[in-house]
This record gives sequence, C-alpha cells and structure tokens, in this order.
Amino acid sequence: MPNILPFLKSLLSVPGLSGYETPVARLIEAEWRPLVDELSLSRLGSVHGFKLGSGTDPRPSVMLAAHMDAIGLMVSRVQDGFLRIVAVGGVDPRILPGQAVVVYATGGDDQIALPGVVLMPHTRLLPQGEGDGVVDMEHLFVDVGLLPSKVANLVRIGDLVSFGTEAVEMSGETVSGHSIDNRASVAALTFCLQELGSRSHTWDLWAAATVQEEINLIGAATSAFQLRPDLAIAIDTTFGKAPGVNDWQTFPLGNGPTLGHGPNIHPYLFKRFKELAERLEIPYATEIMPKSSGTDGMAMQVTAEGIPNFVMSIPIRYMHTPVEMAALKDIQRAGRLLAEFVASLEADFLNAISWED
Ligand SMILES: [Zn+2]
Repeated sequence: MPNILPFLKSLLSVPGLSGYETPVARLIEAEWRPLVDELSLSRLGSVHGFKLGSGTDPRPSVMLAAHMDAIGLMVSRVQDGFLRIVAVGGVDPRILPGQAVVVYATGGDDQIALPGVVLMPHTRLLPQGEGDGVVDMEHLFVDVGLLPSKVANLVRIGDLVSFGTEAVEMSGETVSGHSIDNRASVAALTFCLQELGSRSHTWDLWAAATVQEEINLIGAATSAFQLRPDLAIAIDTTFGKAPGVNDWQTFPLGNGPTLGHGPNIHPYLFKRFKELAERLEIPYATEIMPKSSGTDGMAMQVTAEGIPNFVMSIPIRYMHTPVEMAALKDIQRAGRLLAEFVASLEADFLNAISWED
C-alpha cells in the first residue's frame, strides 16, 4: 500500500491560501506528473491531471475534485510596527489570539517569511464590553518582533499570513496541522491515482486540485465547465467527533470516510458508493446533507445542464483551526474507495443512472 504520509506532510508545510495556491499547486504537480497521462493548469490555477481510459471512443469521463486552497489571513494595515489583519476564508477569530503565524512579506527585493504571533490587547485595554466574549478581529494584530521602520520596509498591505503550526504525526495514526481541510483530500486523491497505476479503468479520469473553494467554490465551478465530465465527485473534509459537539453532524476519526446523502448528491451515485464500500468491507458513515453539501460538489452539480454529483468526506477534528486532525487510515480508505469506484465504471454506466431514490 502506498505511504501517503510524506506527501501529506509536505502539503501541510506550505501556505497556498485561497487565490494564492501556487506553492501547493507546485507540490501537487510534481507528485501527480508520473501518475497521470497529461497535466495542466486551468486559467485560474487549478491542477488538472488526466488519465486515459481503456474504453472505446467516445469515452465518458469522471472528475474527482479536491480543493487545495487553505484559509488564512491578510495584512490590512501596517500600524506602528504591528500588522492589522483580515480573514481569507472562514477563519474563526476565537482561535486566533496566541497563535504562531508566518507573514509572507513582499516589501523587500524577495518575498521573505517572517515568524509572527497574533495578539490582542489586554481585556482592560479594550473598549468596554469588548473583552468579555470573542474579541473581534479588528482588535487583533500580528507582532513580528521587528522595529517599526523595518516592518514598514518589509510588509505591505495585502501580504499573506498563514498559520505557523508544523504538521505533526501523532502516534502513527493521526496527523495534525493547519490546512488538513483540504490537503487530506488531496492526499486521498493522490492515493487513488497511485492505486489506479496498476488498475485499468474504462472511463477517462480527471483529477482536479481546485482553487478558491473557501471563497466561493470558484475552482470547481470553472474546472467542471472546462472539463465537462459526465460525473463529478468532490472530496472534502467533514466534522470529526469530539467532546461537546452535536451527534448527527459529526463522525468519529478512524471509522472511514463519509458518503454524502441529500439533494446535492445524485441518489444513484450514493447507492453505488454504499454498495461498493460494503462489498469491499471499507467502513463508512452516511452523512446527511439536507441543504447543500457546502463543498465543490455544489458548483459542479450545477455546471452546464447539471452533472451527476457525489461528495465523499474525511472526518477531521477542529476544522478551520491551525490544529486540524485526521486519521491516516481514513485518508487511505477514501483514496481506495475512489479508485475502486473509477475502476468499476462500466462503459454503459450512464445508461443506468437516473434521478430516482
Ligand atoms: Zn474544505
């Protein structure tokens, strides 16, 4: 079985915030190049890997999409040597104070990475009532520990700030770090490509590492339009079980991926994935998505005349924090299930699929 951990750790060590995915895209391109027949970038920077199917022309195609962008921060103001910040994507201000971050400063000749910490003024120094609950992001600042003149020279408005946590392999079973949403799924998709190296598949396959999911599913919408697959599958992360969280929206780590079920999911694909997981004895949980899946799947489903869509998710604890955590086993299982699904697609699968529950 391929060991996905070194690649995952490398993915977790680079920023690649939404709209600025180049550092992570480079790593993915290097890893995918030997695994696919063609590799390209979309106009907006999503990575497309193409694997030719063995069926006769014209072949249908399936697209597997995992977003590679990450949430983070952006410098909004440089003030007396301190940096005011705004969020890129859904950053929860509750977890920011005390965090180590990296500021990618562009004011010098070359971009440099400055270590920094997020701080807030002491409660007594904040406007009355402001320190009682969650402190709004406008009161937070980043301190890079340099003289104000140096900061003014090095840091520019719009510079990116990412979480500074290192990826940690915990007890050999779980990995913790920032950006596990959704680099865990990029790793699962890569595992799938590795598995398919020794398997034949009738259908053409598009593997896509999409940009700007955290902003507005922008990479998935544009890549699905460009590639126009017959089926589209999003791989993302979902909420892991932890103390104090509700029961129906959370899934234990280590018990396999979740299979999405709801209006954003094609019922026939759900059925197919469920049967496949059961036959292969891959553990899974059904995740109901009664509104929309909140994933790339939403954008792909409404591309062109509509693309039958499915969402598979990897449970992670502490989503959208710098210490997200996922089980390696779940990543591998998600990758294997995806590979088995692609390999199982019959030439006439599209004739069987209809919107009936
Ligand atoms: Zn995500």
